[in-house]
Amino acid sequence: MLHVKIPTRKEVIEEEKSKGKRIAAVYPIHYSRELFRAFNIQPVEVWGPPKTDTRKANAHLQSYICSVVQSGLSFYLEGYLDIVDLIVVPHSCDSLQGLGSIFKDFIKPKQELVTIYLPREKNKENVEFLANELKRIYKQLSQLCGFEPDNERLMEEIKTEEEIDTLVLKFYKSRGNLPLSSREFYTILRSREYLPPDKFKSILEYALLHASKGKLKKTGIVLSGLLPEPMDILDVIDDMDAFVAIDDMACCMRRVYEEGNSSDPFERMAERIVNGPPDPTKGNSFDERFEFIKSLVDLTSAKGVIFYNVKFCEPEYFYHPILKEKLGKAQIRSLIIENDINEPLPQQTITRIKAFIEMIRELS
Ligand code: SF4
Repeated sequence: MLHVKIPTRKEVIEEEKSKGKRIAAVYPIHYSRELFRAFNIQPVEVWGPPKTDTRKANAHLQSYICSVVQSGLSFYLEGYLDIVDLIVVPHSCDSLQGLGSIFKDFIKPKQELVTIYLPREKNKENVEFLANELKRIYKQLSQLCGFEPDNERLMEEIKTEEEIDTLVLKFYKSRGNLPLSSREFYTILRSREYLPPDKFKSILEYALLHASKGKLKKTGIVLSGLLPEPMDILDVIDDMDAFVAIDDMACCMRRVYEEGNSSDPFERMAERIVNGPPDPTKGNSFDERFEFIKSLVDLTSAKGVIFYNVKFCEPEYFYHPILKEKLGKAQIRSLIIENDINEPLPQQTITRIKAFIEMIRELS
């Protein structure tokens, strides 16, 4: 166990505001943090949050919309985002696209509304499309903030994010040597969702200083899905003398982008997202996703994969049958479970996770 003090979202918002920065509430999944930072805007991501009372959102949403969007809208309607200056809604999936439209056409928030259209698949045309989309957002932010950061400033922020992505990969690779529970590991990793880069970097560096030489002698699991909420799943895994060795989650590993190549800042930001790890919401192929998950299993010697799927998340559902089949053929066991980020983990799900871990341990 490490004693790392991580500021809360509220503390970060208050501190950054006192420095004259604007705050952007950013809905999932992909966007360029660096573009907002170049305008002195601190992104604070809204992944739900879990355990939100969603009654206010129900008036606007169909009952089959996922709990991430239900909570995200309720959180706004309850007034918790009154303090922010911008609302950013990437069009990651149909549900988030719907949320963007609800904001634009019905709620009409007092804050600046920024939407981001994300292309599907890795190719040159899509890099160009996204670079143009980021230029459009740049113009919108320039009008809001009253200044235009130059290319040098944009590149400075891009390089900072690239450095942090490299450090995050190091953190993942050291996972087996870190004296952290799965909950502690993901609490640190996910603080990137709202911390300024220098603060996040110093927390990671501090944690890495405590990496030991001996590896954790526990059963490693790859966790896939949107986000580890409710976080009780991490405790259930740890209680079985296992641990999350690495993940394929939208809030974490799927957003650890490679360095871009271009010297044009907009193209570089676009390259990083388009060429990043495969993600259902980016329309990557079954093979790409299978190869990526298999590479995570190989890297960590994990014994199985758990797909922790948010109920009604269609982009994730679409891949499961084929991925499960491909993993099975590669002798990699997997389990698919559903979650609602606002509800406790059902006992039946806990039992299935425990039985799965026992089974993969016996077979390995
Ligand atoms: S959980 Fe799935 S459906 Fe819901 S916002 Fe995320 S990607 Fe979209």
